Amino acid sequence: MGSGGHRVLVGGFSHELNSFVPGLSTAEVLARAGATVIGDEMFGTASGEALERHAVADVAREAGVTLIPTIHMFGRVGPVIADDAYGPIRARILAGVREHRDELSGVMLCLHGAMATQSIDDTEGDILGAVREIVGPDLPVVATFDMHAHGTAAMARAANALVGYRTCPHTDYYQTGQRAMRLLVRAMDGDIRPVVSFRKVRMTASSEHHDTNHGPMVEVEAEARRLEGEPGVLDVAVFATQPWMDVPDIGWSVAVTTDGAPAIGQAVADALGRFIWERRERFRVVKTPVREALAAARASTAFPVVLADSADTTTGGGNGDGNLLLKELLLDERDDSAVLVLTDPGAVDRCFEAGVGADVTLQVGGSLTPQYFSPVTLSGSVITLADGRYQTELPITPTDVRRIAVVERGGLRVVLTAEKAPQLDESIYHRAGVWPRHARIIQVKSAGGFRAAYDPFAAAIIYIDTIGPADSDLTRLPFQRITRPLWPFDPDLDEPWEAAGGPGPAGPGAGA
Ligand SMILES: [Zn+2]
Repeated sequence: MGSGGHRVLVGGFSHELNSFVPGLSTAEVLARAGATVIGDEMFGTASGEALERHAVADVAREAGVTLIPTIHMFGRVGPVIADDAYGPIRARILAGVREHRDELSGVMLCLHGAMATQSIDDTEGDILGAVREIVGPDLPVVATFDMHAHGTAAMARAANALVGYRTCPHTDYYQTGQRAMRLLVRAMDGDIRPVVSFRKVRMTASSEHHDTNHGPMVEVEAEARRLEGEPGVLDVAVFATQPWMDVPDIGWSVAVTTDGAPAIGQAVADALGRFIWERRERFRVVKTPVREALAAARASTAFPVVLADSADTTTGGGNGDGNLLLKELLLDERDDSAVLVLTDPGAVDRCFEAGVGADVTLQVGGSLTPQYFSPVTLSGSVITLADGRYQTELPITPTDVRRIAVVERGGLRVVLTAEKAPQLDESIYHRAGVWPRHARIIQVKSAGGFRAAYDPFAAAIIYIDTIGPADSDLTRLPFQRITRPLWPFDPDLDEPWEAAGGPGPAGPGAGA
């Protein structure tokens, strides 16, 4: 059968909860932080974007499938989403499904998998379940996810395929959308009957070692691809989880999509779940004290040295106002060649009042996350004032940090932003007129995503042992709602899931 005449409804949302960041992600916050697109805008590629939804459009075009766009909210990372911000997005997608129900051959949702609202811990399970209720049991429903998805049984039950990123740093948005849409086309053509088998593993780990180019994740990804070669298996997704979500049932999971073979799928999901569990100690993150890291960077003869302040990861929910490295740099009067980015709306305002060329003395850092950080005094000259709208490179997407000021003290350049800036690439530095590759020391606030951009030119990368809402020692964070036992909170836990026969997972394909 050909694909001609198929009609597919497309929608989605993308946001990651960090429960340790104060505040609420309101509709206004999401509008400013993200890039919500409605209707045909969802498939536009004028800015060179290559996200999941753009791949969906390209595959649809090749296959002669007509797409019915609804809305895609791209909201990055932050505190819990306001119920009244999620409601209209959900309603818009579901209204489209209801309106077109009789003509649809399939539904494609581009999700992220780690969003929660004030009253819903699993928004992706919620939307997939609601879609399934409208379309009935037989219509193919496929969804894409970030590798940091908080995979749940509800998602697995409701969808015919859960397809996830295979790279961290994430560079395969487009390929993920492509794989998902190709699966959906095959399902609509009747070539396959995809079904998801699912396994939750009782472990969680900070993002540093989710890196698919270094460390234990290399083997996990390779094993996932090997298992994908098993007969009947269509796709294997590893969800490492956004680790800073304080919701029940958090932890790694594996979703295996098979061609109508849930028993095989469950066996594969279990095998990979156990493979990950057996490597859990290797996912522990060991970091270097700030002073020691700075001494090593200063002593290095090769440059630049990247100091990763991963506890304040701005793409992991941190506000970017952590100033522990800046404090350490300022303790010393030496003329370090160093570049840093810090979120501080008040300090930005004062730089704008003072003007370019003015000498300023500012209190910087700690204004947004005072439970972790306190301000430090920075004296220097304002060398740049800039508008905060620009495009990030990874992914290519519009960003708005409102206003940017750069304060220079000797060889030190501190980029101050009014809103937190993603730091997976050099774009915020470039927007500020600062060229990190020329500095000897670069601060990045990222737990690993930055390595796609920085690995190629960094002489060394050192993870500094700071505190913050994206702390890599998860046991230091005030989790309250997670389901125990859970490794590493329960370090002696010796089974990756509750043994069969207990009140735990149900049978194959049940989305345990
Ligand atoms: Zn991610």
